[in-house]
Amino acid sequence: MKKIVVVGGGTAGWLAANHLGKKFKHNDAITVTLIESPDIAPIGVGEGTVPNIRKTLSSFGISETEFIRECDVTFKQSIKFVNWMDKKKHGSDNFFHHLFDAPSKFGEDLTAHWLKFGQDKIYADMVSPQHSACEHKKAPKSITTPEYEGTLGYAYHLNAAKFAHLLSKNAVARFGVCHIKANVINVELSDSGAIAALNTKELGKLEYDFYLDCTGFESLLSGQALNIPFVDKSKELLVNSALVVQVPTKESDEIPPYTVATAHQAGWIWDIALTNRRGVGFVYSNNHMSDEEASRKLDYYLKGNPTGLSYRKLPMKVGHREKFWHKNCVSLGLAQGFLEPLEATSILLTDFAASFLVDRFPESEEKMAVLEQRFNHVMGYAWNRVVDFIKLHYCISDREDSQFWLDNKKADTIPDTLKARLDLWQQFSPQKEDFFSKFEVFDYDNYLYLLYGMNYKTKLSPLSTQYHDKAKAHAEGIKAISAKLNQQLPNHRELINKIKRYGLQAV
Ligand SMILES: Cc1cc2nc3c(=O)[nH]c(=O)nc-3n(C[C@H](O)[C@H](O)[C@H](O)COP(=O)(O)OP(=O)(O)OC[C@H]3O[C@@H](n4cnc5c(N)ncnc54)[C@H](O)[C@@H]3O)c2cc1C
Repeated sequence: MKKIVVVGGGTAGWLAANHLGKKFKHNDAITVTLIESPDIAPIGVGEGTVPNIRKTLSSFGISETEFIRECDVTFKQSIKFVNWMDKKKHGSDNFFHHLFDAPSKFGEDLTAHWLKFGQDKIYADMVSPQHSACEHKKAPKSITTPEYEGTLGYAYHLNAAKFAHLLSKNAVARFGVCHIKANVINVELSDSGAIAALNTKELGKLEYDFYLDCTGFESLLSGQALNIPFVDKSKELLVNSALVVQVPTKESDEIPPYTVATAHQAGWIWDIALTNRRGVGFVYSNNHMSDEEASRKLDYYLKGNPTGLSYRKLPMKVGHREKFWHKNCVSLGLAQGFLEPLEATSILLTDFAASFLVDRFPESEEKMAVLEQRFNHVMGYAWNRVVDFIKLHYCISDREDSQFWLDNKKADTIPDTLKARLDLWQQFSPQKEDFFSKFEVFDYDNYLYLLYGMNYKTKLSPLSTQYHDKAKAHAEGIKAISAKLNQQLPNHRELINKIKRYGLQAV
């Protein structure tokens, strides 16, 4: 495997190019090339990330200051879920946070205590000071906190086009990745069914040893050329369309340090604040709401859309390829699959898959079969766990105000793996051991925030008074930490403006 090519220059392609470039930087025998169409723009959405991205960017040698300055970045500490519960029972604008800091990070697990005594309190607020920091619009760190480290856990909101550009600059300058602009018009297969060459409009035939398909929803190599079947997940996950819009903001506007995800009758709306605009997306099932109604509802969300912003419609193909690696081709990003934007899983899965691939890259053909099997097994497991976690948001909600929410609760739309876990968690609250694979993607902490953010009913376990006394003291301790952090941490907008001006300061 001497010549590797990545086809596609969106976030997936450039993340993969950086991972590969870094791995083979000191190996002159191996070249990494990225080919992207000069005519087909990357999709341009994908503005929410999860904390893993910090490790990745740091490993690529990108400075956090540079990244924040160049990609209109803001900090993301949580997803704030608004109206995911029945408004009649929980009030209009009811909400809960899915925080990035683990519950009870500072000691005793408070879940059992909350189940017994705390149900008039917000779960996330009881178990983590990050809840209050988010509600007070605090940054997760200060100007002197080292790059990629935080007082509180965080990821980023970013401008997707600028992010791809930064990754591309880095891959070319730091890792020597060769960047070609050309349209691939067809793909040649060998007698064995592997990919033999790409035919391009501008440069004719180009041959490589190993191919990464990062061509987005088009899935030019794995879908169109290799004909790898698509596993449809639209029976489980019902939303399939999005209207997206960018809303300009002022430099003085407050920036929430979280994504807002507001549920509506047939899906939800994301609202992501960058430094100079909000990215807003109306996600819906077009089997439950017409495009015209979705557009009207988005107008309403944007307070009548007084400046007449136009909406871009993005259909979503919900599911993934049956195989992610076939012979000498691996698909990544949207070419591999897509579920929906909730919980920002796509860049996460792409980054994970690219790093997993590069970790044990096949230097020769003999090693390929065993690695292919391992990769497909692990990625298949990860995709199914993401389906479970996304579905959880819809199926444990007590909303019943439209057919969409009723359909989401139908037993045949809930994966068996999730059903089994939900049955268990009716009897016992989750334990770390319920998540036995390293490839769960979302585990114990994430499920706790979701289940108890949405008041999932778990039977009380009889626990000693000593436990409850200790837990009560610990809950008081969290309140004290919270008050201190709210004094110490800077306002989110202020910190972003300072970083843009002075950069993060090493002390
Ligand atoms: C509505 C919506 C919201 C989303 N929100 C999030 C989110 O909040 N968080 C998250 O993690 N993810 C999100 N995603 C997913 C995210 O957008 C993608 O993971 C990310 O943008 C990567 O896309 P990509 O690189 O796979 O594809 P694309 O960005 O579509 O890039 C495809 C590339 O392939 C190239 N190409 C295509 N055809 C050819 C050809 N014939 N020849 C040469 N080159 C070609 C194009 O030029 C382009 O460079 C969202 C997706 C959607 C649809």
